[in-house]
Amino acid sequence: MNVSRNFKRIKITAKTAIAKPGNGQIGGGNTKNLLLVHNGRGYGREGKRYLVKGLRGLLNHSMMELAKQKGIEVCHSSDKKETQTGEKLLPDAFHPNGSCYPEEECIRHRLMGSMKKQSVLRFEPVVIVSDNITGEFEDAQKIHIATDKRNALVQGTKRSIQDFGERYIAGEFTYSIELLKEISLEEMGFLLKSILYMPELRWGASGNNGAGKLELEEVNLQEVMRTRTVKKGKVSEKENEKNLWKQMEEGLKAW
Ligand SMILES: [Zn+2]
Repeated sequence: MNVSRNFKRIKITAKTAIAKPGNGQIGGGNTKNLLLVHNGRGYGREGKRYLVKGLRGLLNHSMMELAKQKGIEVCHSSDKKETQTGEKLLPDAFHPNGSCYPEEECIRHRLMGSMKKQSVLRFEPVVIVSDNITGEFEDAQKIHIATDKRNALVQGTKRSIQDFGERYIAGEFTYSIELLKEISLEEMGFLLKSILYMPELRWGASGNNGAGKLELEEVNLQEVMRTRTVKKGKVSEKENEKNLWKQMEEGLKAW
């Protein structure tokens, strides 16, 4: 007995020299941490699994930047025009998130959606584990994980007033974006070019201090057939993937 699903996805292989995509505070401490999703039970401390955050947001900003360069108005990530005190939030080239829908839906909203409409893209979680442990894992990608210990000094002295640490990651990882339905060539082109523009932005913290630069190694549009079978209670999963280079090229020309 088996079940299967046929879909398209964009598979990205990227690396970073150093990135700090942390989003949490260690309880009671001063360490900015990665989001812990598994305590590593059975593998010791090094076996902790973390969820890498912020890639969807990075792509969002990449889309905004690219559309602006082309003079095309798209949704801003904010859904408000101004703050409560009347300060302007939105730069001129954008409209509030989702305000274009449904009458004049912009290209970013057609792909990313908003509170008003679901995205046609499904971002697969990137779960990582330290490359300090041996073995391969199906549920996590191995990458270097370490802590950057920093301290703030009292001005003009060597006396430290605050010590803190920031977790960072370094190395290669893959990132997949599933297409939940067929998109037009124009939308495909905009999506692919926005991915290609991601290295121009910075991901996570300390972007102006050398962290958060993404390097793209491969970007592939793929047709995937994922099949799951069960035999005597044991479930096995298999994926067949095929690169759609021609469709990718056509998309890149269409936007
Ligand atoms: Zn819009």
